[in-house]
Amino acid sequence: MNPTDSRPPSALTIAGSDSGGGAGIQADLKTFAAHGVHGLSAVTALTAQHTRGVTAVHVPPIDILRAQIDACFEDFRIGAVKLGMLATADVIHAVADALERHAPPHVVLDPVMVATSGARLLEPEALDAMRLRLMPMATILTPNIPEAELLLGRSITSAAQAVDALQALRSAGARAVLLKGGHLDEGTRVIDRLLEGPDGTEFIHERLTVEGHGTGCTLASSIAAHLCRGLTVRDACEAATAYIARALALGYRPGKGPVVVLDHF
Ligand code: PLP
Repeated sequence: MNPTDSRPPSALTIAGSDSGGGAGIQADLKTFAAHGVHGLSAVTALTAQHTRGVTAVHVPPIDILRAQIDACFEDFRIGAVKLGMLATADVIHAVADALERHAPPHVVLDPVMVATSGARLLEPEALDAMRLRLMPMATILTPNIPEAELLLGRSITSAAQAVDALQALRSAGARAVLLKGGHLDEGTRVIDRLLEGPDGTEFIHERLTVEGHGTGCTLASSIAAHLCRGLTVRDACEAATAYIARALALGYRPGKGPVVVLDHF
């Protein structure tokens, strides 16, 4: 980035739209705004969705996606790109090509695959494209345990296996990996594990009994916003994991299903 450029860094989310306003593009833009960062969006997929599930998915033509991304890079100074629901291998290749063209300073890859409600948000054949094209571009990869299991093709049921998974995911290309521990049973605590350099860092939070919707999107967007503002990867992860714990504790139920986090700062 040019240091004499007076435009404030913007964050770009490339993700799916959630008509229920709890996850996806809507969660990302709310999170960027809560962090005082201008938010841009390129919509990969339209989902008809509420807090209890996804009722339809439409993937617009790839040309439209490419045009959205190019329009954002033509005018704004983009400090970080956050990748969420990418739906198909064709979308992944178009996004990877665009990121190669524009080379943003940071890419936060949230490898969205299956919604908490059970809906598939990435076709299974797209896993290889995600591994081969996007993981090597990622400043940080933010899988939960089921996503890490699918990326690695093996199960993770203990703390030791989680630590091994971090190493394996980094060897597969991502510069840093934040493995979210919410799906692992570690007593009353949730441990999110970061591996960036040779040594790992753990962010430990008390487990809340609420089930949230859109928490993964919000966490990855918080990291992207903090990277935009110049924080290191470690500091961005520490701030974002604390942010999401509080946002979930402050969450509310706008629909009949799980809690939606409250974006605040
Ligand atoms: N819908 C969209 C468009 C998403 O991007 C995501 C998650 O990344 C979800 C739904 C799933 O949200 P959750 O699993 O938190 O309910």
